[in-house]
Order: sequence, then C-alpha cells, then structure tokens
Amino acid sequence: MQTRNWSDRLGDRIAKLFEDEYLKLSSACKPVIRSNGSKEWTVLSGIVAIDHLSVDKKLRLVSIGTGVKALPDATLERSHGRMVHDCHAEILALRGFNTVLLEHMNYMVTEQCGETDLIERTTAGVCILKSKWKLALYISTLPCGDASMKDLQTYNNTDTNRKQELTFEENTEIQWIDQKIRSILRGRFNYDRLGVVRTKPGRYDSQITFSKSCSDKLCIKQVTSILNSLTWSLMAQPVFLDYLVIPNLAVDRCQGVHHSFQDRLGRLPQKSLELLECNVPFFDNKSSKSEEPSSMSSVKLFLDLPERKCTEQAILNGLKNGFYTKGNKPLRKNCESAVSRLAQWKIYVNIRPDAKQQTYLEFKAGLSERNRIIQEVKKVLSPDGWISTRNDDCHILCDTAV
Ligand SMILES: [Zn+2]
Repeated sequence: MQTRNWSDRLGDRIAKLFEDEYLKLSSACKPVIRSNGSKEWTVLSGIVAIDHLSVDKKLRLVSIGTGVKALPDATLERSHGRMVHDCHAEILALRGFNTVLLEHMNYMVTEQCGETDLIERTTAGVCILKSKWKLALYISTLPCGDASMKDLQTYNNTDTNRKQELTFEENTEIQWIDQKIRSILRGRFNYDRLGVVRTKPGRYDSQITFSKSCSDKLCIKQVTSILNSLTWSLMAQPVFLDYLVIPNLAVDRCQGVHHSFQDRLGRLPQKSLELLECNVPFFDNKSSKSEEPSSMSSVKLFLDLPERKCTEQAILNGLKNGFYTKGNKPLRKNCESAVSRLAQWKIYVNIRPDAKQQTYLEFKAGLSERNRIIQEVKKVLSPDGWISTRNDDCHILCDTAV
C-alpha cells in the first residue's frame, strides 16, 4: 500500500475546514427551507493560506464566500461602489482575500509595524506575502461558465426540455449579448460550445447581467494574479493561487478545469495551478432539480489582527442584509459590505491619503501595466471583443456619490 503523505490529504483537510467554518456561520448567511417547502442551495468557497514550511502544513483561513447571485447591470446605476455586482461564492472569497490584505496593510501603517502574520514589509518599503504561505482556493462545486459546461452536457442530455431551452441554431441572435461579439455567450446558452467566455448564468427571462462567469474570471486571474487593482499597487509582486480544491473531481472533470483555466490562455505567461484531490462533498450544494438557489450570499473575513479577529456579513442584493431599498430610492448609509469597492477604497485612501484626490476609476485607469495585461488576456479569451459591465465609481471626498 502506498504511504499517504501530507499532500494526499491536503484537499480533504481544506474542504473539511471550510465545511466546519460554514457550520459556524449565522443562520442569516445560509440557505433556508422556503414557505412552500422547497429547499434552497448555495455554493461555498474560500481562500486558505498553507504554511508549507511547517511539518504538519498548518492552515490559516483567510476568507469565506457563499452565494450564487449576480446583480443585473441596470441596478448598478445607484451603486457608487456600494453594491457588490457579483455575489458568486468564489468571487466573494477573492474579494474577501483582498479586503484582508488591505486591512493588514492598514494595520501596519496605523501601528507602524513591519509585519502581520500574513504579510511583511521589505527593506524597499513595499509589502509581500510571507514566503511560507501558499494559497488554495476551495470551491464546493465546479465554477460556473466554461469549466462546468461538460457537466451540464452530461446532465442536460438526459433532459430533452432543458436541452431544447438552452440550445440554439448557429445564427440565433439571443445567444449573444452583442451579435458582433460572438466569442461571448449568454449564460448557459449553447452549452455544447467549449472554450468561450460566458456571462453569469441566470433564468432565461431574468434581467441581463454583463458579469462574466467564474470560470472566465478565474482564468484571467491565472495571468493577472488574485490581487485587485488596490492591492496590486501596494504589493511588491503579484500573488497567485497555488492550489484549487473542488470535491469529487473525476478525471474528465479535471481535464475540463485544466482546459478552461490553462489551455485556453494559449501562450500567455500563467501560473500553474495544482488541483488537489478531495472527497468531502458539501452538503448544501444543489442536489435535486426541485431545489432553489439561495438569494442570500455571505462573506467571512479572518483578519486575526489584535482586537479584530473576524468580520461576518450576510449579503442580499449586493448589500449588507437589511440595508436594501427597493426601486430607485437612494441607498442607505453604511449599506456597503466589507468586500464592496467603496469599503476597499476607504481602506486604501487611509493607507495612501494622496489617492483621495482621485476617484476609484481614475486611480484604476492609471495602472497602465496591469491594464495592459488584462487587455491582452481578454483579447485571447474573446477575440471578437469584450463587453464591460457598467461603470461603478466612488470618491471619498464627497463620501460616496460621484
Ligand atoms: Zn459562478
């Protein structure tokens, strides 16, 4: 019998850790049984740092995200950085990771210290992730978009109605957001087509979102790193994921992940991502057709700073639960979650007060090297062009509105 070493069990250990933490989330963050008796489901995701120098490969939780919703593009009009557009679990986990980094850098500035448990300042004065850490992204199921299309083929080929609903002739306009950009498909339409960019899946008749699928976003991060524009400008070097943990990936599903995250990037320089074996299924995943997607999303940030251990928030319609206002009414004060653009920008200007003179989007436009890399990846993934989501800017001087 082959001796199992730490790496054989690492995927299971990580999945178990996230499930244990999920159980500790407040009930407001989790799916419910609806009044008509139907059960809701969600996706669980998170980032964990692994101390690869320690004998027992110590795990340090960084962030958790749960959720399966994305906002329609039109709702962002009143956002001004406060609404989280994409509340899919893995995107929330990545946003959480960036908020944790910003909070740690802010702590170092405020306390005038040179390190936290995650990061340290180099002699040149910039921050780096401590070299002992490797990072893993856990997702309780295959990410939406390209990486999960093969699964959808298997599932839908036994369901004729479903297959008909999502399959269109070669030139049917409805499958695209913009018919001039045929390398971006809407949601799950024509799921037989692999290797294309897709928007977030949604109901056939739902209001349109231009947010791209998690497969596409994760694929882009294989080149640009998991830092956002704010942490990119503060860290000495990009930070990439080392491992991906998705429970119960058979060989063909692993191939789908490799194809989606790595092969379709072609010759672009990218970080290799190791898939860890994992046999711990998540109990709140979708398990039958009658189950409904949960409207609630959530984040938990493991700051582990003195007097600030963690932050947990339930998120509904892109805002902290309880803060949503209907229609076109102004959003309420302090409605933004800890992972929103505005919350992150507020921490950033505390670290770099000069940035206050700019709006968030002006700052972002100034990151020319990062923008160049992003444009290059988008061109490879969608040769016909790109469809961007609506501008969502914020400014600290006048609090929120631009
Ligand atoms: Zn997704």
